[in-house]
Amino acid sequence: MHTPVTIIGAGLGGLTLARVLHVHGIPSEVYETEASPTSRLQGGMLDIHDYNGQLAIEAAGLMDEFRGIILEGRQALRVLDFDGSVLFERGDDGTGGRPEAQRGDLRRMLLDSLPEGTVRWGHKVVGARTLGDGRHEVTFADGGTVVTGLLVGADGAWSRVRPLLTDAVPEYSGTSIIETYLYEADTRHTAVAKTVGGGSMFGAGTTAGQSINAHRESGDTLHAYVELTKPLDWFDDIDFADAEAAKARIAAEFDGWTPELTALITESDGAPIHRPAFALPSGCRWERVPGVTLLGDAAHLALANGEGANLAMLDGAELGKALAARPDDVEAALAEYELAMFVRSETPVQEDFLIESIFGDEVPERLLAMFENAQRKS
Ligand SMILES: Cc1cc2nc3c(=O)[nH]c(=O)nc-3n(C[C@H](O)[C@H](O)[C@H](O)COP(=O)(O)OP(=O)(O)OC[C@H]3O[C@@H](n4cnc5c(N)ncnc54)[C@H](O)[C@@H]3O)c2cc1C
Repeated sequence: MHTPVTIIGAGLGGLTLARVLHVHGIPSEVYETEASPTSRLQGGMLDIHDYNGQLAIEAAGLMDEFRGIILEGRQALRVLDFDGSVLFERGDDGTGGRPEAQRGDLRRMLLDSLPEGTVRWGHKVVGARTLGDGRHEVTFADGGTVVTGLLVGADGAWSRVRPLLTDAVPEYSGTSIIETYLYEADTRHTAVAKTVGGGSMFGAGTTAGQSINAHRESGDTLHAYVELTKPLDWFDDIDFADAEAAKARIAAEFDGWTPELTALITESDGAPIHRPAFALPSGCRWERVPGVTLLGDAAHLALANGEGANLAMLDGAELGKALAARPDDVEAALAEYELAMFVRSETPVQEDFLIESIFGDEVPERLLAMFENAQRKS
């Protein structure tokens, strides 16, 4: 095998791959566009599932470290109707299969588990080309290059490695997420803090593709994800730099909803953040190209369904294991990994299993209908 394995992107997928390779004594180098591990806030809380993300953490030999970063109590769940009536409520007794951790803590856990210098910060990839014989040349924004015999694109939605394998490009799904943060919620936003409760809260109306959801993150920060189905040019007309006007415009779409829920928009500390949801065509596959593959969002960017980070980590772990198992036949290892990855990313988690894993076995009819509706949409 050509080593070090060259990985583009130090997100959860790329770092899990680097870690699993390290566990098996295989060196790698990870090129990351961000200038340092602390140059950007890493986003919200992630539930790490016992059927995918946790399997990756086990393969990485980091279960003890993972237990140390789980946010206790955050598997508590509330589901509210648009008028504030409670459709479902459950506490967190610590036995659920979807413990929550901050994305930044997960990334730090993986970074700390790698040999010093594995990640080359401040290396933005601008292109990659095939040289033949399974070798590729990667070009960085500063004009530097690296030639590698084994290249892995773990560089997310807008991967610069993907064009080596497929012409597929992400398309706008028609739905956007608007993120807001409410800080010191228990003292500064007491009513809405109660509405969200100790963990996650889903607020659903009667229109598919429109919801107000929130997590209680570390500290007492509320982090809301407001889902709106609108064309991109509708959002272009909103000046997100004008926080008050942007909040008012988004909240106006939730006319008739209880202020307990819309307060997650109107009481936002700072301007709402617009995140259009892009996705690759489902079933995106490619023919084997020697010496290069993809993982995570680079391979199968999908609508936010709570699985993306979990799948990226599992891809990283499975690819690392496949390479470790077949060091003398890298092409066979890549083919085996890709086939399983294509099937995994195309196969939605069974609806019954998902409902039970989230809600247990006592789910109100109204909630089931809403959930099925949302699943159909994604
Ligand atoms: C609002 C929102 C909420 C979500 N919630 C959840 C959730 O609750 N649970 C869940 O499982 N998933 C969730 N997801 C999906 C999840 O974030 C992604 O699926 C996951 O981050 C994919 O991991 P990755 O390692 O493949 O890519 P990324 O996390 O995107 O990492 C890619 C890395 O590559 C780097 N990079 C990018 N371009 C270059 C370049 N040109 N050169 C060098 N480096 C580069 C980036 O800086 C980054 O560090 C959510 C997504 C969004 C948008």
